[in-house]
Amino acid sequence: MSNYVDRCIQLCKDKNPGEPEFQQTVEEVLTSLKPVMEQHPEYEKAGILERLIEPERGISFRVAWVDDAGKVQVNRGYRYQFNGAIGPYKGGIRFAPNVYSGIIKFLGFEQIFKNSLTGLPIGGGKGGADFDPTGKSDGEVMRFCQAFVTELYRHIGPYTDVPAGDLGVGAREIGYMYGQYRKIVNRFEGVFTGKGLMWGGLYGRTEATGYGIVYYANAMLEANGESMKGKTVVVSGFGNVSWGTVAKATELGGKVITISGPDGYILDEAGISGEKIDFMLELRNSGKNICAPYADKFPGSKFFKGEKPWAVKADLYIPCATQNEILIDEAKKIVANGTKFLCEGSNMPCSNEAIAYMMDNGVIVGPSKAANAGGVACSTIEMSQNAGHTVFSPEQVHAQLKTIMLGIHDACEKASKDYGFGYNLVAGANIAGFLKVAKAMMDQGI
Ligand code: GLU
Repeated sequence: MSNYVDRCIQLCKDKNPGEPEFQQTVEEVLTSLKPVMEQHPEYEKAGILERLIEPERGISFRVAWVDDAGKVQVNRGYRYQFNGAIGPYKGGIRFAPNVYSGIIKFLGFEQIFKNSLTGLPIGGGKGGADFDPTGKSDGEVMRFCQAFVTELYRHIGPYTDVPAGDLGVGAREIGYMYGQYRKIVNRFEGVFTGKGLMWGGLYGRTEATGYGIVYYANAMLEANGESMKGKTVVVSGFGNVSWGTVAKATELGGKVITISGPDGYILDEAGISGEKIDFMLELRNSGKNICAPYADKFPGSKFFKGEKPWAVKADLYIPCATQNEILIDEAKKIVANGTKFLCEGSNMPCSNEAIAYMMDNGVIVGPSKAANAGGVACSTIEMSQNAGHTVFSPEQVHAQLKTIMLGIHDACEKASKDYGFGYNLVAGANIAGFLKVAKAMMDQGI
């Protein structure tokens, strides 16, 4: 019966050549579904996996805009609406030079399970463009966002597909995209999330992903008789997700000693707290995509040019930068450091080989599709705030976020145990996320 899974993994490879990131996530998820397929032969009959790995819809489009020098620039935009069985497609938009169909498909596929795990009614989708915001002026970013939405608007809507931010897309970009959407459709509706607080945005959305990651990591620690208090934490990245992670980990008594950027990493043995956390926002807003200025600003910290922080000894690792930042060599360093815990913050930061190596060597791994689901969960709270024409308080949002994250941890643990994996959150997240979507697909016919 598990042949079915192997056949579908191969099918994905055959049908999506040249898209290794997408193949990687499909292999990772489907492999842990083997025992589910054994217990539910009806899923094979209904072609659930073949349908799951094929996006319901995918579009790519030309984005033409004019730069500050008056030169015409052309980028490629994407939106993959992967699975809408449990709700409108929901997922971010990524602007980065390495974006191509394989990246958006991997992110869209992951989003199906992540969104399902939140327990909220949202399907999986993702979009983006091969546009590099680094060094672009405000005017250039605005013209790009307007051109992007002039094409995308016809494919989205509050009950169809609700985009949000991701790498390279923050409050500024959401503002420009929403402004253009509203002008075209002449409706004020909750079609993007991560909006400004004065025009439909949710108090607490900005920090939601990072806070959620730490709630999840803390639940992992507690399930194993430990807690965040007194833990040394290595974090990578310095953007929105890292910022929320550092802030919440510090608040819960952890000591975060690193952040990183494409230029290298910062080691601050005194701990990144207080004004240092605020400075992360300045670094991000500089638009330069470098973390080196932290070391000039805070004496006692050190900058390691061109290096990643994985050789630094810590109790807990939280990669928050981007996909595939921990491959087998990095995993070996982390294991050699004698750690017991790694909680993924960014989407798919570890290769399948790296996860297997760490788990075989006793590291408890929290998977990103569970741990970073707090962002999209709060996006969904933003959707219900907009649909109800109301405003929720930060206290309401933070309390709901915490409940959701603890619920996700427990759902992962239970699914893992139910299907014979013991305490394996990686398998548990895939199984728990899958079961709800599969049931909906079965109910809705072919
Ligand atoms: N891009 C985020 C993620 O990876 C947020 C998506 C959303 O809020 O829709 O989950």
